Amino acid sequence: MKPHGIMFHHFHDDGMHIRGQGSISAEKFEQMICFLQKDKTILSAAEWFYRAQKNQLRNNEICITFDDNLKCQFDIAFPVLESLNITAFWFVYTSPLIGIIEKLEVFRYFRFKYFEDIDKFYHSFFNYLNQTEYKNEIIAALSGFVPNRYLSDFPFYTENDRTFRYLRDCVLKPDRFNKVMEQMLKDYNVELSSLKDLLWMNEKDVRMLNTKGHIVGLHTHTHPTSTASLSKIEQIQEYQTNMDELTRIIGNKPYVMSHPCNSYNEDTIDVLKELKVQLGFRSNMKDGFHSKFEYPREDHSNILKQMELNGF
Ligand SMILES: [Zn+2]
Repeated sequence: MKPHGIMFHHFHDDGMHIRGQGSISAEKFEQMICFLQKDKTILSAAEWFYRAQKNQLRNNEICITFDDNLKCQFDIAFPVLESLNITAFWFVYTSPLIGIIEKLEVFRYFRFKYFEDIDKFYHSFFNYLNQTEYKNEIIAALSGFVPNRYLSDFPFYTENDRTFRYLRDCVLKPDRFNKVMEQMLKDYNVELSSLKDLLWMNEKDVRMLNTKGHIVGLHTHTHPTSTASLSKIEQIQEYQTNMDELTRIIGNKPYVMSHPCNSYNEDTIDVLKELKVQLGFRSNMKDGFHSKFEYPREDHSNILKQMELNGF
């Protein structure tokens, strides 16, 4: 298999880091590393970077990567890596580090913390919409909507998953969706300010990664879900701010990156070249991308599936 990164997001423990869709424990993480090492070689981040620069990466050489500077990664995955003597890439979006609470992560936390299961959340969300000014628009949009024909490329989505995504992405769209969710959070008395330290790493954590020989990289400042739909000026702002903040925090300029939500275009590549970035990662294993800003990555959930198939 061609050289690639493994992409990790959420982790859980028995304490403050709750279980959520796709989250794994420290134990599972360690098992995954053992499983990967059966037929692949995990390189240290620095070694991976060096070999990539020289075009010397071999098949079955992989690296470990983390997106989104999550506190659960630092608390749960980082100690495992330390004990195994493995260094990784950590792609950091910087707005949470200067005190901004980005909604995407908060909404995820809300769904898993306040509802027994995802369908209870959907039920509550759909009810909630019925009490908003968008009620009639929602009813009209849902008449004739056939869930199973929406996002049919994703066979694992349930009918509720499909209806929720349709309402969020095609009917309400970000601004109005955020408004509804924020009102919902308010009614559930979610204390936003207390979530910052629970959900994201702080500056000290990021510095620690750097000090311990891990490689900290760019991931935009505010984590747009569609960087490709931003103007070039907006993209410059995203990556320049991200670069400035990370340089301030770790004391050297980042030279690697990953694309948030796998979204980028030619402007993005230009911006990265201007910032002297040397290497970037996508978020899937699709063929046909060969630039140094487009190294493939396998999502950890696909590794889990392979483990199950192999009775690991
Ligand atoms: Zn991300």
